[in-house]
Amino acid sequence: MKKLIAITGASSGFGAEMAKIFNANGFPLLLLGRRTEKIEELGLNGEVMIRHADVTNQEELSKAIKEAESVYGPVDLLVNNAGVMLLGNVWKQSAKEWKTMLDTNVLGVLNGMQVVLPGMKKRHHGTIINMSSIAGFKAFQNHAAYVASKFGVHGLSETVRQEVSGENVRIMLVAPGAAETELLTHVTDNSALSEYEDWKQSMGGITLDPKHVAETVKFMYDMPQEVNIREVDIAATRQDS
Ligand code: NDP
Repeated sequence: MKKLIAITGASSGFGAEMAKIFNANGFPLLLLGRRTEKIEELGLNGEVMIRHADVTNQEELSKAIKEAESVYGPVDLLVNNAGVMLLGNVWKQSAKEWKTMLDTNVLGVLNGMQVVLPGMKKRHHGTIINMSSIAGFKAFQNHAAYVASKFGVHGLSETVRQEVSGENVRIMLVAPGAAETELLTHVTDNSALSEYEDWKQSMGGITLDPKHVAETVKFMYDMPQEVNIREVDIAATRQDS
């Protein structure tokens, strides 16, 4: 019997593609996000539970996970995918935008890990895949606070991986390059946005199709439990940075 998979940020982009591919392969799913109507619109059938959960609210996240576990059994894979990227320069970006990114991208990941890790450690089974970014190991101009948040995801993932590896729990990380999702739609700094668009044009205007990231996540999870693909760095071939 296939085990429960929970995905945060399943309403668009990578999360929605992961939901589709795991659903097509018959996994019971807990799909989380704030815009639950967008998750409903994916039109998935079978064992799918859709719940509102803001990853910055651990209580809400935990409640949804416990509810899904009571129906489908323990979560065997948590994908901490929810994230925001608000571009801007430190000397002019609002502290509110920094906080949104750090709360969502770093604390949101920690929140999810804290909910599922005790059970996974006890069962000596389970996988957590954290969605970081190439901006999690190298700098990009106009991205300072985002880079800080994703370096955080890299650092905490490797730390916890070492801590729980002895209990047969896998911590994996995916570091995608630029992709065609809704991520840029929240950027408020128009000059940073147009520089990003110019950069995209330099790679032919088309970046990663999120479905290939979803396929990669599934491949990583499908490896036997004794194999941990610790980190994948995936980008459009034409991305030069
Ligand atoms: P999208 O904007 O398409 O998706 C982001 C998802 O995160 C949405 O489903 C959104 O759902 C969810 N989300 C945002 N904030 C919260 C929150 N507080 N609580 C719960 N869910 C939240 O972007 P992507 O698919 O591109 O982003 C997914 C991940 O991939 C992010 O971590 C991003 O940093 C990372 N990434 C993206 C790259 C890209 O170029 N697209 C490159 C590298 C990494 P809702 O608003 O409904 O809550």
